[in-house]
Amino acid sequence: RLEIRDLTRSFGARRAVDGVSLSVMPGQVTCLLGPSGCGKSTTLRMIAGVERQESGSILVDGRMVCDATRSIPPEHRSIGLMFQDFALFPHLDVAHNVSFGLTGPRAEVRARVEALLQRVGMARHVNAYPHELSGGEQQRVALARALAPRPRVMLMDEPFSGLDDRLRDDIRDETLDVLKAEGTAVLLVTHEPAEAMRMADEIALMRDGRIVQQGAPYNIYNAPVDLEAAAFFSDIN
Ligand code: ATP
Ligand code: MG
Repeated sequence: RLEIRDLTRSFGARRAVDGVSLSVMPGQVTCLLGPSGCGKSTTLRMIAGVERQESGSILVDGRMVCDATRSIPPEHRSIGLMFQDFALFPHLDVAHNVSFGLTGPRAEVRARVEALLQRVGMARHVNAYPHELSGGEQQRVALARALAPRPRVMLMDEPFSGLDDRLRDDIRDETLDVLKAEGTAVLLVTHEPAEAMRMADEIALMRDGRIVQQGAPYNIYNAPVDLEAAAFFSDIN
């Protein structure tokens, strides 16, 4: 379970993130949805631990990973990342991309890598190098790599935006199935209402650094909080 409370971050005089609070239960997907520049990526970077918040706190499964007095380093937060430009290591084959950073007995690591590649449908490509794979295949390997250390929380920042439409629908459905099967709490950033409607259990609608509305997709779609929210959803059918 991911819980964030009252996260704030400014750049210069401008508040990019202004008191954002939300929680995501295991196996659930919350979409952080909003227009360009509203503070989505900054929120994710603070949760990941690569950007320091000014105030607020972050808890993973009830454990404080960051507040005013302490900050656990990113690699110890039990948080996985999938970003569009988070590329695979080009000089490592698929197996070594997925096992990168895993510790433990070799046989166990190999078994975990095999199970993950099986699950994302990439077992046949275990010895391939990234440049030998299509964009969708690389995305599947990136998912396996992100899941390898068994994170409790997965942060995804527009991870599907580099893929063409057909492939994107397939990959995002598959990705959700895998994450739900692992019981991971997912926070997915998107600026596309259609993507949020398709993927989210809950949508947090963000604007100018704040969450202006939060709830089940169809509640937000059917009862937008104001005209601007209504207009934002009006171009999906
Ligand atoms: P997009 O959909 O375009 O990715 P976003 O919602 O992810 O937008 P952020 O990247 O979080 O937006 O940026 C929020 C605001 O903070 C923007 O006005 C941006 O210019 C500003 N900002 C983000 N990072 C920095 C930085 N390192 N230095 C200065 N300003 C920044
Ligand atoms: Mg962004």
